[in-house]
Amino acid sequence: MNVLATFAYLVASVFFILGLKFLGSPKTARRGNLFGAFGMLLAVVVTLTDQRIIDTTYIIAGLIIGSAIGLLIARTVQMTAMPQMVALLNGLGGSASTLVAYAEYVRVPESTLEVLIPIILSVLIGSVTFTGSLIAWAKLQGVMRGAPVLYPYQKHLNGLGVGVVLVLGIMFALDPGQWYLLLIILVLALILGVTTVIPIGGADMPVVISLLNSYSGLAGATTGFVLSNNVLIISGALVGASGLILTNIMCKAMNRSLANVLFAGVGSDGGPSSSETVQQRTVIRYTPEDAATMLDSAQSVIIVPGYGLAVAQAQHVLHELANYLIERGTQVRYAIHPVAGRMPGHMNVLLAEANVPYDLLLEMDQINDDFQNTDVALVIGANDVVNPAARTKKDSPLYGMPILNVDYARSTIVLKRSLNPGFAGEDNELFYEKKTMMVFGDAKTTLTNLVQLVKQ
Ligand code: NDP
Repeated sequence: MNVLATFAYLVASVFFILGLKFLGSPKTARRGNLFGAFGMLLAVVVTLTDQRIIDTTYIIAGLIIGSAIGLLIARTVQMTAMPQMVALLNGLGGSASTLVAYAEYVRVPESTLEVLIPIILSVLIGSVTFTGSLIAWAKLQGVMRGAPVLYPYQKHLNGLGVGVVLVLGIMFALDPGQWYLLLIILVLALILGVTTVIPIGGADMPVVISLLNSYSGLAGATTGFVLSNNVLIISGALVGASGLILTNIMCKAMNRSLANVLFAGVGSDGGPSSSETVQQRTVIRYTPEDAATMLDSAQSVIIVPGYGLAVAQAQHVLHELANYLIERGTQVRYAIHPVAGRMPGHMNVLLAEANVPYDLLLEMDQINDDFQNTDVALVIGANDVVNPAARTKKDSPLYGMPILNVDYARSTIVLKRSLNPGFAGEDNELFYEKKTMMVFGDAKTTLTNLVQLVKQ
């Protein structure tokens, strides 16, 4: 059975790797998901049959309760709440690793160093992932403000915390009989998860989310070493590595180094004062009719989707408008900013749901130079990713982040409900520029109007 199990684990690992490969393109992403799910099913079934489990009561109870909760969440969670759910799932992955590693210590307290080190790492990384992900969830859910939470000696205290954990880890590894050391490491790691994520905020959250995703994989991989389970080591390492690659992509998109994101704590307090300043200024309010006239005469349009498109669930009607313009001979393309929305790839997923052809979706680097030769940049529910403060305002949380150059287009139409700032809490000068047409209202309602008007 052991040979068979090893072989089955190998097959499961191949499915994980192929799944990741297919997830690399929107065209094959569904297949990638299925491959990953099948690999996991195979791994779970083999583990259950191979481990000579004597009593399955708890496993079955866990399966029933977990599946029921999973089913309920999958059926009820709104598409707009997906980023929060991904953050929570990362956290649960981390906590599962911690619990398994801790349980293994309780089961065999006098383990060898090869097992004790992974136990410490798993408890540490898993706990940091758990509470860090809860903070990420709270920020995405709006329970906590998105802006960085800063306090005196923050970096020093965090550094001290990490130092203490390392010393305790070494002491515990040398004398595993001191069970309370592992418990202190666990509690300190839970606290560190909170204190290292709260100073990161505003526009830097995508980096944190992908990093936590990577941590959850690393925690899984170290737990694999604890249990000597190859498939867990491989799958954890795959999640860890792909999370790190994503973190790197997000850092590049933000034009930040990872160290800058983790330790700088940059950002305005994003408090109400900034948005109040905006409210006191005036902009001209354009109607959907004005926007329709502009689109009617345009030969080229670049659509810039943002988080508001997901909130409004306006992707289908947007696709309808784009199709209509294309039929009339207008050149229509979509510009996708890597951090638009609330999770990596959010806009791609959203537009794929409305069957927007993939070849119309262009990455920022591919399309940014084309704005200057474009008649209309149609910004729908995007704010931070088109905010010129990122180029000029040094104390802005967005400063340094490359943005989509919508202000270089001949004219810009912005669809949003108010002058409120985006996730980073930064006012947007774009809304006050002469060639910007602000059309206020829910994006779905405005786009539905626009479709009717353009057709007329
Ligand atoms: P923003 O959050 O900057 O702005 C979204 C805008 O959508 C808001 O200003 C809001 O304005 C508008 N909006 C909301 N609901 C509607 C609606 N129903 N109809 C019309 N407009 C609506 O989004 P962006 O996509 O531009 O930027 C993403 C931000 O989120 C970045 O700061 C990024 O760093 C951050 N982030 C990204 C993550 C990722 O992985 N992609 C993860 C976490 C954070 P109004 O209320 O006036 O309508």
